[in-house]
Amino acid sequence: MLKQVVDYFSPTGLGEAVALLRQFPGEAALVGGGLDLSWRPRKHARALIGLDRLALTYQEPREKGLAIGATTTLLQMVESPLLAAYQGGFLPRVLNRVATSLLRGMITIGGALVRAYPWADLPCLFLGLEAQVVLYDGNDRLLSLADYYADRSLRGPDGPLLRELLLPPLEGSRIAYQRFTRTAVDIPLLNQLLHIRWEESRVAEACVWLGARPGAAQRVTEVETLLVGSSLTGEEREQAVVRMREQAEVESDLRLSADYRRHLAGALLRRNLEEVADAA
Ligand SMILES: Cc1cc2nc3c(=O)[nH]c(=O)nc-3n(C[C@H](O)[C@H](O)[C@H](O)COP(=O)(O)OP(=O)(O)OC[C@H]3O[C@@H](n4cnc5c(N)ncnc54)[C@H](O)[C@@H]3O)c2cc1C
Repeated sequence: MLKQVVDYFSPTGLGEAVALLRQFPGEAALVGGGLDLSWRPRKHARALIGLDRLALTYQEPREKGLAIGATTTLLQMVESPLLAAYQGGFLPRVLNRVATSLLRGMITIGGALVRAYPWADLPCLFLGLEAQVVLYDGNDRLLSLADYYADRSLRGPDGPLLRELLLPPLEGSRIAYQRFTRTAVDIPLLNQLLHIRWEESRVAEACVWLGARPGAAQRVTEVETLLVGSSLTGEEREQAVVRMREQAEVESDLRLSADYRRHLAGALLRRNLEEVADAA
């Protein structure tokens, strides 16, 4: 499967990893969990550079929020006491439904965010949480995840290396995530993250991302605008559902028609709104 690979390197420092990328321009691949690389091998990759000895497996509190190192697996996040205390354990609950238990033990947060399949859970999830990433190419560079995805060149074979994910504190936030799948272990056919800030019994800010459309996640600003100022009454929630169906940029693919995705986009918003209204 990886017949073209002739070298495997196991650097012990970030500088060494970046130097190796430069030694094999266009012909190297960084290895996080290695699941994606073994599933869909990169034809360009003659050299593999393992990240497992770079001490990037950690979850720690920071002055503002939390930091998660790139080689932390989804399983480690599901089992993390730190994440259990963050937003009422929202992330472990959601991540525990992603892929299967065995795969969650392989998939790293770095590998999932860099690969960023349009149908994947993690980009939509962390875009909605307004996460940031730290990239390393000799120097650290802090970017919002949204800006990271806006520049495709940052996810090319020559790096930069994604070093860590930063999650904001999210005080006063209410968050809900829905994924629609055919079976419990299937990939999402549509997913949606709703994040609101609740102040004086009203929505002060709203953030809505719709993923697996089947294209890359769309920020649905028209729904956000409608929700700001709302007290999430049944009528206001239904208006938002209608607006979501109007604004969802969905298409057909082998799995689902555009019409059905449009209908679902509204249904997922209804569920998300019910969850955040209950929490509020
Ligand atoms: C059977 C199966 C089911 C799946 N189900 C789901 C699902 O339900 N939901 C979901 O969201 N995803 C799902 N995925 C997708 C999975 O999250 C991705 O394949 C992910 O890339 C795997 O992570 P990894 O750590 O093994 O990546 P790797 O194979 O290690 O790397 C993937 C890519 O990222 C690069 N890379 C890795 N780490 C870094 C880094 N720190 N900095 C820069 N580049 C890096 C690699 O060079 C490679 O190009 C599934 C995948 C499979 C095979």
